Amino acid sequence: MRLVIKYGGTSISSAKDIQNVAKYISTLSKKNEIVVVCSATSGTTDDLIEISESIKKENKSKAEQLASKITNRHKQLAKQTIKKSDVRKKLILKLEEDFAELLALIDGMVLLGEVTARSMDYLISFGERLSVKLVSAAIRDIGKKSIPLTGKEVGIVTDSNFGESKPLMDTTRLRVSKTVDGLFSKKTIPVVGGFAGADQHGHVTTFGRGGSDYSATTIASCLKADEIWLMSDVDGLMTADPKIVKNAKLLKEVSYVEAVEMALFGAKQIHPRTFEPLISKKIPMKIRSSFNVKNEGTLVTASPSASVKNTVKCVSNVKNNGLIDIRGGSMVGNPGTAAKIFATLAKAGINVMMISQNPSESSITIVVKNSDLDKAVSALEMELLGKIIKKLEVTTDVAIIALIGSGMRGTVGVASKVFGSIQKNKVNVSMITQGSSEMNLAFIVKNSDTSAAVRALHNEFELDKIN
Ligand code: ASP
Ligand code: MG
Repeated sequence: MRLVIKYGGTSISSAKDIQNVAKYISTLSKKNEIVVVCSATSGTTDDLIEISESIKKENKSKAEQLASKITNRHKQLAKQTIKKSDVRKKLILKLEEDFAELLALIDGMVLLGEVTARSMDYLISFGERLSVKLVSAAIRDIGKKSIPLTGKEVGIVTDSNFGESKPLMDTTRLRVSKTVDGLFSKKTIPVVGGFAGADQHGHVTTFGRGGSDYSATTIASCLKADEIWLMSDVDGLMTADPKIVKNAKLLKEVSYVEAVEMALFGAKQIHPRTFEPLISKKIPMKIRSSFNVKNEGTLVTASPSASVKNTVKCVSNVKNNGLIDIRGGSMVGNPGTAAKIFATLAKAGINVMMISQNPSESSITIVVKNSDLDKAVSALEMELLGKIIKKLEVTTDVAIIALIGSGMRGTVGVASKVFGSIQKNKVNVSMITQGSSEMNLAFIVKNSDTSAAVRALHNEFELDKIN
């Protein structure tokens, strides 16, 4: 089989874990062609982002301090992970080159006194540059041929939308398959850095936070891989957050569309565009844990087998959001009101998570993250208060509860079951949305009612008996 196997940061953040990954890959590579894709080690991307914050504040010493924290972490890992001294020495030399470049970059950015989207992408791509060298060296350390590659080196070509780029698939397909086929023919295992690529001018670009998943599916699609596995520290997608529901179950099989909904609603953090490259080629994905490889995890396919017939497959929750109720008489029958509201929020860089408007058109309710709430309210007040908006009513600390499952489509009585059981638990619902695809029914409760609501629905739909 041709496999793309992607490791999240937590799977490659200690010497023992990196060695286990190397052993696992080495064993699998006897019978399969494998491309490994890696995230940065835990915390590294966050540290790089903090470096950019320090540069903005003109705090060079803080930036350098963080850079040496990253340096030490990786050197330490290199020393603990790699047993053969020649492999270890070469690795440390390569890492030293990256550290020197990182410091030079910080110098340059401090000198210019600015962090542009382009320099930011270059900066935050360092995490994966370092992690792939560690993992690839660990594979060489146990006697297999392997080389580390950045997204740019493997051939991922993107548009120039720094911070949120997209691969240009035709060019990318040609380049990635050429690079990888060349390595496969030499029995060399490529270890590719996720998250980043380069635009047509060769400038490093990234896909946005969590983008390594997207790198992995892009590569899988280019290579027409038989399967892609996302390895992390969770066993797969669950029927609910196991911290809330004791008998939450692992979902054995879900469809791409369901997985997209589950990813967006935070059941497991997966980059939202991850599934796009898989859909046309129908490449199956497994979501698995690197700490429990006996478990097959969750299989994500175009059309899951009919064995799982539940209408609802998962109850997910996202806490800590704010709800803004936007009211005004002149919103009624006034085309363009919604456009103005959303344009204002977009200009302020605010992501709107839920929207509803009642048919009288006198109010529009939106949900944003708590952390975006102040910015959203002040943007709306500055631009639109006294014009189309008469009043803004804000509720903080609310949770989104979402039921996900394609079996809800066309099934009568789902809503009454949902709200019946919520009512029995005396939980108040302050907003409801359901897309007409009926894949996802979501509503808002107080943060403090989250657990009660999730448990009630998990019981009501008997999700503990799902498999
Ligand atoms: N290292 C990047 C991040 O933390 C990309 C990834 O992990 O997928 O967002
Ligand atoms: Mg990650």
